[in-house]
Amino acid sequence: MRVTVLAGGVGGARFLLGVKAALGLPAVGPGPDDAPHEVTAVVNVGDDAWMHGLRITPDIDSCLYTLGGGIDPERGWGRAGETWAVRDELTAYGAEPSWFALGDRDIATHLVRTRMLRAGYRLSDVVEALCHRWRPGVTLLPGTDDRVETHVVVDDPATGPQAQKAIHFQEWWVRHRAELPAHRFVAVGADEATVLPAVREAIAGADAVLLAPSNPVVSIGALLEIPGLRDALQTSPARVVGLSPIVAGRAVRGMADACLPVIGVPTTAEGVGRHYGGRAEGGLLDGWLVHTGDAAHVPGAEVRAVPLLMSDVDATAAMARAALDLCGTRVG
Ligand code: GDP
Ligand code: CA
Repeated sequence: MRVTVLAGGVGGARFLLGVKAALGLPAVGPGPDDAPHEVTAVVNVGDDAWMHGLRITPDIDSCLYTLGGGIDPERGWGRAGETWAVRDELTAYGAEPSWFALGDRDIATHLVRTRMLRAGYRLSDVVEALCHRWRPGVTLLPGTDDRVETHVVVDDPATGPQAQKAIHFQEWWVRHRAELPAHRFVAVGADEATVLPAVREAIAGADAVLLAPSNPVVSIGALLEIPGLRDALQTSPARVVGLSPIVAGRAVRGMADACLPVIGVPTTAEGVGRHYGGRAEGGLLDGWLVHTGDAAHVPGAEVRAVPLLMSDVDATAAMARAALDLCGTRVG
């Protein structure tokens, strides 16, 4: 079976562990060469940025490290066993951005990536090269090789509400902890971007397409801004099933609640489901999974309620099985 998953960073990576386990693959690391099932993850690049001369791809790295067994389990991002000597040296220089930290081990990944990009390789080539070391057991694909970066339009802190300016999503999220009131999100570069051909093929050739319970605005939403991606989903021969990242009216982890009000979507499982829309009504979803106890009516999509808390790999695998079931595929 071929399963294609749209994913953000931490939530997407955790969900992918469960998808692999549901298919009988080891959650972490590569499966056997003759495994009957294949997973492709289409990963958000909207958070990507240049910092300290290095190309940052947070969501790809979260997937790479989580699935490859190198993640720091407590922070949920970056490398296990990390040290911070370079960050401390940068701080001593007063080097900006002082609010963005990379660990020493992590910096090695960033050096390899940046060097390859500067030599002319595409981002998808770089990801493939990094996978030779991490062996995530899934095909990791950036949504596009082009730069499509999420920016946030805020009141200019220098002038107040008279003037607005766009800042990079990372600055809003990490520096301002999403507390600076936001007017809207802009996908900078989307006009000139195209979806990665391998992504289109992975969707067209899938037996099941899943939208991970990732941030619906700046992870899944940012992927949908890439020209061609929404169309690939809408014409997918396989059923498309999403899982709600909102449980009982709140984001399960992190600050995702901060994004939905900005785009005028209620922070509920039904709100997000309707935002994606049922396929029979011109939207994306054939099926929508909400957490037990949450109710949702999404015109044009079949809704089911199952436990949606990724507390461990077994619980996450059960979520993935429910999603595959709603796709009409059975893991034999
Ligand atoms: P990021 O890029 O690192 O922010 O990660 P993602 O966008 O992939 O995932 C963040 C989203 O995952 C948030 O909206 C959370 O609500 C959601 N999330 C995290 N843990 C869980 C969980 O256990 N269950 C569900 N349903 N959603 C979760
Ligand atoms: Ca992210």
